[in-house]
Amino acid sequence: MILTSFNLLLFLAGLVFCAGLAFAVLSLFEREYRAAGMGTMAGTAAGGLILLSTLLDQNGEKIVLVSLLGILAASILFLFLPLGRATPERGEPANQVDERDIIFARARLEPGTETYRQYYQTHPEYQKIDDTSRRQPGLLDPGARLTDPLHSAATAASFALTEALREAVDGPLALDQTQGSPQDFTQTVKKLARYYGALDCGIAILQPAHIYSHIGRGSGTYGEAINLSHRFGIAFTVEMNPTMVRAAPYPPLTMESGKQYVEAARVAVQLAAAIRELGYPARAHIDGNYRVIAPLVARSAGLGEIGRMGLLLTPRQGPRVRIGVVTTDLPLIADTYRPDESVLDFCRICKKCAQNCPSQSIPQGERQIDNGVLRWKIKPESCYHYWTIVGTDCGKCMAVCPYSHPDNWAHNLVRWGIRRSGVFRRAALLLDDLFYGKKPPARDRSFLP
Ligand code: SF4
Ligand code: SF4
Repeated sequence: MILTSFNLLLFLAGLVFCAGLAFAVLSLFEREYRAAGMGTMAGTAAGGLILLSTLLDQNGEKIVLVSLLGILAASILFLFLPLGRATPERGEPANQVDERDIIFARARLEPGTETYRQYYQTHPEYQKIDDTSRRQPGLLDPGARLTDPLHSAATAASFALTEALREAVDGPLALDQTQGSPQDFTQTVKKLARYYGALDCGIAILQPAHIYSHIGRGSGTYGEAINLSHRFGIAFTVEMNPTMVRAAPYPPLTMESGKQYVEAARVAVQLAAAIRELGYPARAHIDGNYRVIAPLVARSAGLGEIGRMGLLLTPRQGPRVRIGVVTTDLPLIADTYRPDESVLDFCRICKKCAQNCPSQSIPQGERQIDNGVLRWKIKPESCYHYWTIVGTDCGKCMAVCPYSHPDNWAHNLVRWGIRRSGVFRRAALLLDDLFYGKKPPARDRSFLP
């Protein structure tokens, strides 16, 4: 075929139209109907305009073609402009966190007990807000605002299974220790984690700030000092179903949370048991029975960056994951944490989680120094209070986060651009608002897969 401007314009029109159509079809599979409509319109309009330009005379066609190529070249150039640099967080938190102070440990305190009295005697600042939450219906309660019997039953079944697994986080060691190189053990552990069901896996050298100072829940004695001497933390993620996450804050989100907590717990328990079979100490850290702060270990293990909403944002699923950790003395090679400035810059301009949070628990401002670390600090009390009213674990922040889109070619292309360029990040945010809405409504509220 002769390479004339007419033919090139025809080719470009077809390409743009097909790209719009492909995106629309993909969005239909994702049940994102607004995005499907926008993709069709954008592809048709842009493709149609280019097609119309073929009605011009040869000079007109050439001008349009050169302009289009100019726009393309300028866009590529923009990708490399050093705009939107963010100061990466350096170092780990200065002090260890006492697990008794986290909201989930406080929520378990029962009024009238000695533990309750002693805790609030030393922490009177939490008593009023905690008691207010205690008076609400609570998670999965039939009297809560958004619960329904079917989803609550399914979620309760998952919670019960995770609870049963809490007894299996540790166990006896094999008498003989298998010898091997750290390289071999590292490869084996990562492969095993994936084989058991993990999506991604990394290894961190455990720091004091990763470990809670005192037990607040799970096995062991409440208030006992934690003495975890393991050298490494193996962190891994399991993926949450995007359709169920988009139902947030309605019950499918909580049902999916429960299911993936089970998955993370099962993988962690199995992996820890396998390491102990090799003759090395290993403990699984699972929902309700942690000795470590899982997102911090996962970040040090190179699995992602902590964003505005306080959750780990992973490169391909964003916050739409659950994290499991196994700590061990098996000789391993640690991964390197590289602060991801693109995430911090994107979170700085995005704010979508904060703007959609029903309890205004996520800050809209800049990061602040907290416990020696520059970060966005969410308000766990108001977040949890909202959960006790609606009866679900909300997850609206996770659902609206632009990083939460499914792991496929279209969204990964955008993620690639977001990592590369500050200009692209700003454009991607505008497009996310346009295609998915600034305040995306909850979808498939009674969805059962
Ligand atoms: S919604 Fe936006 S601001 Fe919030 S964590 Fe995700 S990217 Fe960051
Ligand atoms: S879970 Fe819901 S209430 Fe809590 S921070 Fe996220 S959006 Fe806000």
